[in-house]
Amino acid sequence: MTRQVPMLINGEFIESQSSDKQDVINPATQAVLAQVPFSTPEEIDQAVAGAKAAFQEWRNTPVPKRARLMLEYQHLLKAHQREIAEILAQDNGKNLEDAMGDVWRGIEVVEHACNVPSLLMGETVENVASGVDTYSLVQPLGVTLGITPFNFPAMIPLWMFPMAVACGNAMILKPSEQVPLATVRLLELFQQAGAPAGIVQMIHGGKEQVDQLINHPDIVATSFVGSVPVAEHVYRSTTNLLKRSQCFAGAKNHMVVMPDADKETVMNTLVGSTVGAAGQRCMAISVIVFVGDTIEWAGELADRLKRIRPGVWDDPEAAFGPLVSKAATQRVKGLIQSGIDQGATCVIDGRDIKVDGYPDGNWVGPTLFTDVSTDMDIYREEIFGPVVCCINANDLDDALRIVNNSPYGNGTSIFTTSGVNARRYQHEVEVGQVGVNIPIPVPLPFFSFTGWKKSFMGDLHAYGKQAVRFYSETKTITTAWKETRVSAPNMSIALK
Ligand code: NAD
Repeated sequence: MTRQVPMLINGEFIESQSSDKQDVINPATQAVLAQVPFSTPEEIDQAVAGAKAAFQEWRNTPVPKRARLMLEYQHLLKAHQREIAEILAQDNGKNLEDAMGDVWRGIEVVEHACNVPSLLMGETVENVASGVDTYSLVQPLGVTLGITPFNFPAMIPLWMFPMAVACGNAMILKPSEQVPLATVRLLELFQQAGAPAGIVQMIHGGKEQVDQLINHPDIVATSFVGSVPVAEHVYRSTTNLLKRSQCFAGAKNHMVVMPDADKETVMNTLVGSTVGAAGQRCMAISVIVFVGDTIEWAGELADRLKRIRPGVWDDPEAAFGPLVSKAATQRVKGLIQSGIDQGATCVIDGRDIKVDGYPDGNWVGPTLFTDVSTDMDIYREEIFGPVVCCINANDLDDALRIVNNSPYGNGTSIFTTSGVNARRYQHEVEVGQVGVNIPIPVPLPFFSFTGWKKSFMGDLHAYGKQAVRFYSETKTITTAWKETRVSAPNMSIALK
């Protein structure tokens, strides 16, 4: 019988009673790895009620104890990094190196969560009036919700629940129904590390389950990562209910290549940053803005892209894996056709690529377009495949105009040896994460993940540094001590 992906409710991995199921498929072979039953309304209510009960105790668990849970979890994740990477390589398809990186970027967030006692410190001002002091406390919110996409099956769940829990909250996690297997293992290890029952609950599903959760009166805050249309729906629905919400969404990231850039450096970074992970990264470079005569470098990029090919996760010669699904493959191939129909030059067309021994895989090879204009679908849409669009700009002004007219603002980079150009670009570009001679400028978790415009909806960029603010409320206390004497300014005050 096909393996059923369990839910996690109140500390038990249990099978859903639902008959509404979706196959979890290996995208290189189409083998059915498991089935994921979409949780029933009753199961979701049970998960939220259990999380609410667990929160009551967890919020009073000493902060150092919460930090120690994260320390233990970090240790276990490191010990099981390869195993988790192999699990997610099965349902997501990414190659081993990418899969190891996916887990590692999540481990870094857990390391950040180990530091939670100092992150939760409030502030104090003595004598705001005569004999009156004010201090602030940072407190957890309650039951939070995490909804994750398919493209980082380990990192993105780990963006969410460790920080939420370290701050004293409970979380309901709804992983991508396309790639739920790694999340199961992440949560088994979290239990093993000592997480109390109910503090993270996992349910499965799609739109119906998400809608029930975001409308649930006991869910107080939602973190979402996924495509722009779904992010807009989740953000509008949650904020309409006056709930806290942050939605990380799609992207179209531009790399600007200046004539003074070091050509070899540009070429060496472009292959991995454009088609790596089959382009299924929200920080992938999907548009190259070649300034002036550098457009001629597109020919050399094409030569390099022709030399690489996709393959299965454990093929060391493969540069990247398959697309996640048949539907995604059809969509990407359709967009490539639209580029040709709308007049772009398709220098390399990856639609007919074959991978020996894997005739059923969702393969699309590296694809490169030149003569792309900003009104074409291949420029306007997030393709999320190994497809690169080249645009020619006259100068830096022109390049900035192109990038700033994009509705997306997740990541961008400039390659230049001129400090003046670099300084001007980082200052004027309207994008949240900027690389200078770095193609994919993803910050570490002691910074924030700072998408702009359509790539992020919310107030706080809460994957790293700001996560504590997102998952906490601040309370200010003002006290006038008349009878009780407080002898040391930083002594602990026991209120009766
Ligand atoms: P998706 O929007 O299809 O799905 C994301 C989540 O939303 C899944 O858990 C899914 O079950 C749920 N969902 C799908 N349709 C829904 C609906 N109609 N209503 C409610 N919930 C729904 O995204 P995906 O294809 O899994 O992931 C790829 C997208 O995620 C890309 O657009 C990529 O750029 C984006 N992404 C963004 C970031 C970022 O930090 N900005 C990071 C990773 C991925």
